[in-house]
This record gives sequence, structure tokens and C-alpha cells, in this order.
Amino acid sequence: MIDRIYRSAVLGVAGNKAVESVVRTRGWSVAQRFVAGDDLQDAVRAVEELERDGVHGILDLLGEMVTSEEEANTFAEKILAIMDALDGKPYPKYVSIKLSQIGQDLTTASGENLGMVNARRILTRAQHIGAFVRLDMEDHPRVDETLAQFRELASEFGTDTVGTVLQAYLYRTEQDRAALDDLHPNLRIVKGAYLEPETVAMPDKADVDAAYRRLTYAHLKAGNYTAVASHDESIIEDVKRFVIAHGIPKSQFEFQMLYGIRRDLQKRLAKEGFTVRAYIPYGRDWYAYFSRRIAERPANVLFVLRGMLKG
Ligand SMILES: Cc1cc2nc3c(=O)[nH]c(=O)nc-3n(C[C@H](O)[C@H](O)[C@H](O)COP(=O)(O)OP(=O)(O)OC[C@H]3O[C@@H](n4cnc5c(N)ncnc54)[C@H](O)[C@@H]3O)c2cc1C
Repeated sequence: MIDRIYRSAVLGVAGNKAVESVVRTRGWSVAQRFVAGDDLQDAVRAVEELERDGVHGILDLLGEMVTSEEEANTFAEKILAIMDALDGKPYPKYVSIKLSQIGQDLTTASGENLGMVNARRILTRAQHIGAFVRLDMEDHPRVDETLAQFRELASEFGTDTVGTVLQAYLYRTEQDRAALDDLHPNLRIVKGAYLEPETVAMPDKADVDAAYRRLTYAHLKAGNYTAVASHDESIIEDVKRFVIAHGIPKSQFEFQMLYGIRRDLQKRLAKEGFTVRAYIPYGRDWYAYFSRRIAERPANVLFVLRGMLKG
């Protein structure tokens, strides 16, 4: 409950336009702990640096909840440029996108969902260069549409090219996971990062942690590829025990973490022979992402204040 109060306080303050303006002007040096840089070259450099430690990268161009067609198409072009930059690279090519960034809320002149039009362009290119695209999960009003769109895209492009994310904090998620089983999808399991009402999301962290374990175990047991995306060491240790107990091979799952968080653990797991990927956000539109990272951990507020006072 305390966690939820802290998270709503931070995300509530972050939503204030005056706070946003101060943090946007003075907070970049602090945000760089979580964001790889301004442009694609910075992000590719970060991927290559992680590769030296045996950790793979997931490129994420920051930006979400886009309201104009022009902006959505610009984001889609920039994501296509990521594919061009990755084409021919010797390491795994992996990109995360948000459907709201490429037009999920918009309809084209011919009546199609712009997010789907752009997603198909991106996935066609991804398939061509052998890249994997993860559809991030956003706030709860988008879950139905995102899952329906994922189903459509997975049937067109295959689950080797596209996957999505399920959030353990939503009461609905165990049912959503079971309902996707026929696709044998590659799912990333996360706890959930948005400020959600108690009517849809569990307010207590202990319940979310328990739901996280149930979801991960169910997905693994069903024989599906699972991206265990958490920095929670007790969960990671439990997953390691679970896979041994159930004879689940290392090729059926991986660990995922965020850029700038628990790099020591990322390296250690990679050394132990697990597939590890770090989510590498980059770009100018870092404010919403940064606010969610601060809301996850009380110590981060002090880190921000200290950094901004220094800057
Ligand atoms: C690869 C990846 C992709 C994600 N994609 C999505 C998505 O599509 N949709 C979505 O809603 N959420 C997404 N998330 C965020 C996720 O929902 C959680 O908010 C976030 O991962 C924190 O939860 P945790 O599992 O690490 O556990 P927690 O219990 O929150 O944290 C466990 C420990 O991890 C460390 N830690 C966690 N967060 C931070 C932080 N911000 N700063 C410093 N240390 C920290 C601390 O040591 C903490 O004690 C993603 C997370 C990852 C790793």
C-alpha cells in the first residue's frame, strides 16, 4: 500500500506542468542514468557496450500517446531507421515499440487504425532483417486493443517476429495470458509501471509479486518463451529454481532489465549462461519514462533532487 501511495504521489507531481518544465530543463543530466542518449547513434553505442559484457540490447525510441498523424508517422519512420541501423549487425536485433506512439489512437482516411498500418510497415522490415519487435503494454484502457492487435499481427508475422507484454498488477492478466496460449506467444512479464486505479490493479506489492510468479510459472509451464523482466532478485532466484525443477531449458526464457538498473546483476546472469537483455531507451521524449522510473523507488527521488541541485 505504501508503495502505491509513493507511486501516486510521484506520478501525480510529475503530471504537474510546472514540475515538468523544471525537470525537462534541468533534469537531463539526471535522466541520463536511465536513458542512453538523444539519438540512435547513442543507443547503438549503448547496445555495443552491453554486448561486450554478454548482455543484449532492446532499442526503445522514447515517445508515447501521440495525437497527430504526422507525429505518429514520424515515429514510425524513426523506428524504420532503427531497423536500417541494425541491419547486418552481428548481434541480436531487438526493438520495443508502443502502439500509442505510432498511431493507435488515430484512424487513416481509408478507415484503418494508423497504429496497425505503421506496425505492419515496421514488422515487414523487421522480418526482412531478422529482428524481433516487442509491443510494450501501456495503461489499462489500452490493454484490450493492444492484445487484439497483437493477436492480429502475430497471426500475420509470426511469434518469432512479434511479442507483447503482460502486467502482473492487473487483476485480468492471468486470464489474458491463458487466452493467448493458442498462439504460443513470446511474452514479457512485468509487474506494471502505470498509476492504475484499485478497481483494475492490485494495490499491494506483495500481491503483485505473487501474481508475477504465478504468471511467469504458468507461461513457462505451457511451453512458451518467457521474458522475465524484473530486477527483483528473489523472483529471479525463484525462476532459476523453477526451471530446474521443471526441466525447462535455458533456450525457453530470458531475463530482461532496464538500462542503468542493476547492471551488476545483468552481467552476473549473463556470465551464468542465461540470455539477458537490457531495455535501452533513447530520444528527446524522456520525461514520461523517467517519471515512471522515479516512481518505482523512493531512493530515486533523492537521486533526482541531488542531481538537479548540482546541475
Ligand atoms: C525490460 C523491461 C521492460 C518493461 N516493459 C514494461 C511495459 O511494457 N509496461 C509496463 O507497464 N512496465 C514495463 N516495465 C516496468 C515494470 O513494469 C516495473 O515497473 C519495473 O520493472 C520495476 O519492477 P521490478 O520487477 O524490477 O520490481 P520492484 O519490486 O519494483 O523492484 C525490485 C528491485 O529492483 C530495483 N529497481 C526496480 N526499479 C528500479 C528503479 N526504477 N530504479 C532503481 N532500482 C530499481 C531495486 O533494487 C528494487 O528493490 C518493464 C521493465 C523491464 C525490466
